Amino acid sequence: MKITERHVRIVAIVKFAIAIGLFIALPFIGMKKIVTVVIDIEELCSVEVEENSWRQIVIHHSATNSGDAQAFDKYHREKKKWANGLAYHFVIGNGSGSKDGKIEVGERWTKQIHGAHTANMDTNRIAIGICLVGNFEEEQVPTQKQITSLVSLINYLSNRYQIPKSNIIGHNQVAQKSTACPGKNFPIETILNRISLFQVQASRMHTGKQQPHHLQ
Ligand SMILES: [Zn+2]
Repeated sequence: MKITERHVRIVAIVKFAIAIGLFIALPFIGMKKIVTVVIDIEELCSVEVEENSWRQIVIHHSATNSGDAQAFDKYHREKKKWANGLAYHFVIGNGSGSKDGKIEVGERWTKQIHGAHTANMDTNRIAIGICLVGNFEEEQVPTQKQITSLVSLINYLSNRYQIPKSNIIGHNQVAQKSTACPGKNFPIETILNRISLFQVQASRMHTGKQQPHHLQ
């Protein structure tokens, strides 16, 4: 009888200890997830050469239903005869040809060289080109995962290079011959609204830092 009572008491104490442990650990488990996302984008965008002073972000669609960075690179290299291949700095997959929402980094980013994503060379020299796989001029719209990845990527890049929201534009806003890219169904306003929200959060997070991120 005594043994059973003691047993019960020990089990209760162990349960209490586990509960306390979880109570203390849970917020950290949550934090770890958030930190991981931030580090992933930072790691993805890290380069081993001197960074270009990017001043614009231009968003494109691939005008194809499927594809990935490798397929577009092949097209730009072999059909367009562009020595540096893939015209964009980043490609975001739609689940057809590459994983839905996956951000692929092009060689023009790792080398920090100009894009070939618009017909305006002045823009290509200062603008980061991001292409979402899909044809948003037709019935298609970007997937939720593409939008989430795009917002995270733009949020990171715009904060890193201090690019104002007015310099985050669709290809059709570039001064060049008219283009439908990134398509009439591309939700540019939704993207911009979500970016401003992120920028407010990001600036709060960085409160107290003496220098902009890229000077550290
Ligand atoms: Zn375009």
